[in-house]
Amino acid sequence: MKKSLLLLLPLIIFTSCYEQVGGGNITPPEVVGPVTREDNMLMGNPSGATNDILNADNYLMVKPQYSLSYNNTKHTANWVSWHLSSAWLGSIDRQDDFRADLSLPVSWFAVQNYSFSKSGFDRGHMCPSADRTASVGDNSATFLMTNMIPQAPDNNQIPWANFEMYCRSLAEKGYELYIISGPQGVGGTGSNGYTETLGSAAIVVPKYTWKVVLVIYNGNNDISRVNEKTRTIGIWMPNEQSASTKPWYSYRVSVDFIEEKTGFDFYSKVPADIQKVIEARIDNVAI
Ligand code: MN
Ligand code: MN
Repeated sequence: MKKSLLLLLPLIIFTSCYEQVGGGNITPPEVVGPVTREDNMLMGNPSGATNDILNADNYLMVKPQYSLSYNNTKHTANWVSWHLSSAWLGSIDRQDDFRADLSLPVSWFAVQNYSFSKSGFDRGHMCPSADRTASVGDNSATFLMTNMIPQAPDNNQIPWANFEMYCRSLAEKGYELYIISGPQGVGGTGSNGYTETLGSAAIVVPKYTWKVVLVIYNGNNDISRVNEKTRTIGIWMPNEQSASTKPWYSYRVSVDFIEEKTGFDFYSKVPADIQKVIEARIDNVAI
């Protein structure tokens, strides 16, 4: 073998590895950057939420582990936003300490750890427990009830959970992800049948669960590295037991579809011409 080819060989192997992981939509960088934790809302605030008690249905809550817009009429988040890279991942066990979020304004109803019990719906994490395993505090924060929606068990535990695992597998392979998820609509079908609200406070059971994910290689200056080729994945899944009859990847939609349904603007910090391209595409990477 020629000496010049031998020198190139590590680069060729390196490049083909990343192509396998990312499908055709991500151009491998010359150098994979440092693994960092980033602002959970770096790509934007999808609903212009503010931390103002008068803005009760679009109330911004910023935590070290995730940020969310809380809706005090629905008693669930409108959306939860978080960054995922291997810098958030460790070996801490699931804390399972479901509890009311005492950082809500004290005059508001707070969903309790038992508020969904016997309803036929899971306490479905938006920011998953397994995305925050580097410290006990990080993992425990995911069990606050403001991070939970009433989620049909066969949605939550099967296709939804499988997509969460897929996202973590990308984080473990050199990517960082910006993820936003939430509930939409009223009325789901859990293990006890169709239900619209839970309890006397009428916690809204959503009709759909959705998620948008932006995937880039590990590195710095993340917004500036988003371009027209950047991979985005939208997921729109009925909050029904029957959701488990299809794999997660058959629920892929464009980010634009979810923007239309929810009225939110995702990735608003990304230049509009780039948003236009990456939000219109339906991810078709072979899974
Ligand atoms: Mn879950
Ligand atoms: Mn957008």
